Amino acid sequence: MTPGQRAAWQALGLGPVWVRRDARAALGEGLDPSGAELPRPDEARRAPPSPRETIRGEAIRGEAIQAEMARSADPTPMPDWESLQASVRTCERCGLCRSRQQTVFGSGSPTAPWLIVGEAPGAEEDLRGEPFVGQAGRLLDAMLAAIGLDRARDVFITNVLKCRPPGNRNPEPDEVARCAPFLRRQIELLAPTGILVMGRFAAQALLETDASVAGLRNRVHRYPVGGAELPLVVTYHPAYLLRNPADKGKAWADLCLALARLPRQRAAAG
Ligand code: SF4
Repeated sequence: MTPGQRAAWQALGLGPVWVRRDARAALGEGLDPSGAELPRPDEARRAPPSPRETIRGEAIRGEAIQAEMARSADPTPMPDWESLQASVRTCERCGLCRSRQQTVFGSGSPTAPWLIVGEAPGAEEDLRGEPFVGQAGRLLDAMLAAIGLDRARDVFITNVLKCRPPGNRNPEPDEVARCAPFLRRQIELLAPTGILVMGRFAAQALLETDASVAGLRNRVHRYPVGGAELPLVVTYHPAYLLRNPADKGKAWADLCLALARLPRQRAAAG
């Protein structure tokens, strides 16, 4: 482990932790570049689910999202990045346009290999027009630093919803469905080497499922786009990890999985 990685590890509040070798083997070879042992599987079970991660009666369901997407499909072509940004900036496709301060399109490098997708802007993001700022943003920065990534250089970060749900309530299925074409077009234009998805709502929207993060993490999914299939890894949202620090070890394992399975370099052109 390098001094920088050690500092980032400590910033995450992860170390030192040890685990049985069979648990480490179950995650695959090379998933922990630090050489440190992975956390015990039973550690994660101690953390109670947070309200936001708990599936509720009104939880977004994959089928509901798909039905809404079919109803609200936008036939308007969005040919390039600038046009897409302008479309988002003035969008009134759902009711969130009435309560937002501004839209949050995304930040980072559009030529970066990885795309990170979160849920929706919070209060601070709504004010600043940037995703993942504040305490959750600082934890994301530490998580990325732990695997040697810089958020301005190595990733592009966006959310499923480009506008803040009032009071940070959960997104509604029709809001996700109406906003989904923007994220879809972002992925097509960015053409990342892989996608790291943070949080239940983002995972459910991209993978068209109603499964929990616990059921989706710790494996590599495929996201079809442009005739190809991008590797996609699901992990917990930094805001969830702030409320449930016992799950940071699992997030670390997910980051290591992403590091092992999402290419860090784009293929050379031509
Ligand atoms: S959340 Fe998405 S669909 Fe709704 S107004 Fe904002 S940009 Fe438009």
